Amino acid sequence: MAEKIRPVRGMNDILPDEAAAWQHLETEARRVLEAYGYREIRFPHVERLELFARSIGEDTDIVEKEMYTFEDTGGEILALRPEGTAGCVRAGITNGLFRGQTHRLYYLGPMFRHERPQKGRYRQFHQVGVEAFGPATPDLDVEQILMARRLLQDLGVEGLTLHLNSLGKPADRRVYREELVGFLEARRDSLCETCQERIQRSPMRVLDCKVPTCQEAVAEAPEITDFLGEESRAHFDRLRALLDAAGVPYELNPRLVRGLDYYTDTVYEWTSDQLGSQATVVAGGRYDGLVEEIGGPSTPAVGFALGIERLLALVAPERVPEPHPSVFIAPLDAAVETDAMALAESLRDRGVSAWYHCGGGSLKSQLKKADRSGARLALVLGEQEQAEGTVLVRDLASGEQEALARREVEDHVVHRSS
Ligand code: ATP
Ligand code: MG
Repeated sequence: MAEKIRPVRGMNDILPDEAAAWQHLETEARRVLEAYGYREIRFPHVERLELFARSIGEDTDIVEKEMYTFEDTGGEILALRPEGTAGCVRAGITNGLFRGQTHRLYYLGPMFRHERPQKGRYRQFHQVGVEAFGPATPDLDVEQILMARRLLQDLGVEGLTLHLNSLGKPADRRVYREELVGFLEARRDSLCETCQERIQRSPMRVLDCKVPTCQEAVAEAPEITDFLGEESRAHFDRLRALLDAAGVPYELNPRLVRGLDYYTDTVYEWTSDQLGSQATVVAGGRYDGLVEEIGGPSTPAVGFALGIERLLALVAPERVPEPHPSVFIAPLDAAVETDAMALAESLRDRGVSAWYHCGGGSLKSQLKKADRSGARLALVLGEQEQAEGTVLVRDLASGEQEALARREVEDHVVHRSS
């Protein structure tokens, strides 16, 4: 045997047994998002590196070390998309979407980040992403939070906590940043090496560091919410009032900064207590400056991304509908093959899902397969049935069976499977 070719580390195969759960999640996501007026957008999995560097930010984990970048044979520097917002905004700009109307968009698909693979963290992972463009008002932020809540609820996921913060406008953040840098410099020695480097370049990321000594050191750090300008304060107050009115509980978390540079005002995460250290299932926020920053017209926007692998880990298997046919067709002999195949095709013509057994085998073995398929009925055709012009119709749950005339079988099956 030839040597096996190893798969790429951190990139998973999704086998048919697992795909049912994926499809269930995707179907539910489409249903819920479309009920709120969101429409699907599809854009490439590959973009110019520059797009991500400019939108996500040079000093972020993603751009610093997590991206898959390469030069193509034409000499272009490209990257596999590490997230969807940048590409979605780029597609909107390219196609002239941002001309004043509101756009509510969603996408589903793979993202790529070169991280250390572990449970809940992969190098190819999948997101459901949602972005809305137009209104700068907090009703749009709240709509998305309600939408995420509904999707999670409809999938039967419980025990999630919504963490909420506001990062204000860039001007608010500049003032805050100075205060924070002063605070961190005074505690430089208690910070981990990475955070020491971050103090000047990207001080807010220190707040997000998972190292316990860093967390202790920033416990008393100044809080961004004390630095919000009037407009951001009003946005945040209104957002909270709307969430309260909708009965959505949340925890204010002034240390929630998110790992991307483009956020303004609202940021939030939903976390689960069931996922260990990879606890965040949904993360989102407002990014009013991004469209303009990558060359589009000034367009306020808000969005979230949901990690599909992490969410799937929370969906109970019994909630996932198993695909199964209505009928299983068992041809017992090569001589009946043309008849049996024609029967299967005519049933499919009439909208019945019919699985046809290929490869021959005894009645017993075929009936075992029929049982395993989850079909309600098995249609058995042997030489005897063919000679008599009948088909044996077997109810797989009760084991009862009767021989029906070939011309009656289709109506019978259509009737019983509707
Ligand atoms: P984390 O702090 O866990 O690294 P992040 O802030 O980098 O997350 P986002 O860029 O906000 O993540 O992505 C949104 C969601 O996508 C996350 O909340 C998570 O559910 C999922 N996600 C992000 N990175 C990965 C990954 N490498 N593998 C699996 N899911 C991921
Ligand atoms: Mg990350």
